[in-house]
Amino acid sequence: MSDCVFCKIAAGEIPGKKLYEDDDILAFHDINPVAPVHVLLIPKKHIASGAADLTEEHSAVIGHIFAVAANIARELDIADGFQIITNNGEKVGQTVAHLHFHLLGGGDFRLKLG
Ligand code: AMP
Ligand code: ZN
Repeated sequence: MSDCVFCKIAAGEIPGKKLYEDDDILAFHDINPVAPVHVLLIPKKHIASGAADLTEEHSAVIGHIFAVAANIARELDIADGFQIITNNGEKVGQTVAHLHFHLLGGGDFRLKLG
């Protein structure tokens, strides 16, 4: 999508602090981190605006994203405590309408869900 900031990062049109990249997905540091480790993982293709668009056909890429997230968590030494979240919809604060997963952790950080 021409107007999508994450499509532009995936295409190398705007810079991103990339941690991992292959043909299908990309991981990069969030520009405005809310945790000591705050990494975003995205499918490179604009396959979905958010989790509400997902279907069974996306299973492989989503599984791949989670496997890469686990590798990054190990590499960044947060494997003993991290969270992966995705926002779907402006109502819950989604600001970029390109499916993405936040990998959060480090220090005493904990997004309190309950
Ligand atoms: P969400 O609120 O789930 O849509 O999250 C979007 C995230 O993208 C926010 O945490 C932003 O800080 C982050 N973000 C926006 N623009 C950029 C960018 N150019 N590079 C890295 N992260 C970004
Ligand atoms: Zn996009």
